[in-house]
Amino acid sequence: MNCPVCEGRAIGKVGVEQYYCWDCCVEFTSQSDKVVIYDLAEDGSLVAWDDPALDSGLAEVAIE
Ligand SMILES: [Zn+2]
Repeated sequence: MNCPVCEGRAIGKVGVEQYYCWDCCVEFTSQSDKVVIYDLAEDGSLVAWDDPALDSGLAEVAIE
């Protein structure tokens, strides 16, 4: 498992199928056919990670 943003390996597991990248400070969940990326707000909440480069359907942002 590498970070989908920076391809780095500084990944920590924070939950079931949920990971955190220490390099770019994003959280992402790995699912069978897609990776969903979240940004971490200052208050610790998860917000949609917005990157136009990934706006191709490969990275789908969905917050329940
Ligand atoms: Zn990263």
